[in-house]
Amino acid sequence: MTATVNADPQELAKFSELAHRWWDPNSEFKPLHQINPLRLDWIDSLARLPGRRVVDVGCGGGILAESMARRGASVLGIDLATKPLRVAQLHAMEAGVEQLQYREVPAEALAVEMPGAFDVVTCMEMLEHVPEPASIVRACHALVKPGGWVFFSTINRNAKAFVFAIVGAEHVLKLLPKGTHEYARFIRPSELAQWCRDAGLVLQQTRGMEYNPLTQRCWLSGDTSVNYLVACRKPA
Ligand code: SAH
Repeated sequence: MTATVNADPQELAKFSELAHRWWDPNSEFKPLHQINPLRLDWIDSLARLPGRRVVDVGCGGGILAESMARRGASVLGIDLATKPLRVAQLHAMEAGVEQLQYREVPAEALAVEMPGAFDVVTCMEMLEHVPEPASIVRACHALVKPGGWVFFSTINRNAKAFVFAIVGAEHVLKLLPKGTHEYARFIRPSELAQWCRDAGLVLQQTRGMEYNPLTQRCWLSGDTSVNYLVACRKPA
């Protein structure tokens, strides 16, 4: 990989090391398994997945990508970590899910190769691991068709997010390995909204995603103070 790629090799290595446990619902990826039905339903309710062409940017082991393909979308998952992509591919093959492909390619490069090729772009829990998130947002805008949907989710940057997402999740509850998240890379909703506008995307909805680790329940709300999701559209 060249130095010009918008990726942090240490971040990619972290995800590669854990890749073999990606589909174990009790592993480090438990939170992703638990939030998946919620985000899948939300995306589907807005963009109507069946028959859509979707690219999932930073797909990892494919939890969301595979679930969108099962809903009837034709999905391409991209990531820059090799092992998670292999795990994703193997899981799709074993599960016999069709209309699901994976590629190791930077979002920015795919945007040049396939501009406007997708009805829907998803980019979940990924921007906070990237050196230049605004560049990913611009690539997502380039990948989507006019009138298409782009979805992001990430973690807010404030004292509460620090306590919940780092101290609570990594140190107290040990839901995530220590060092999973770096506070300075968290993104305020206002910052993400600005990057979306600068890229030419129009914000449609922002929702908070709350999680109770005791009951292991998660739900969408108006509280964006820790985890949140954003839905945008490219003007038709
Ligand atoms: N989006 C998936 C996985 C989230 S984990 C989900 O929500 O279920 C974060 C993922 O981002 C990892 O798979 C990691 O390899 C990927 N990632 C980190 N930096 C990246 C980059 N620059 N380009 C593409 N993927 C990246």
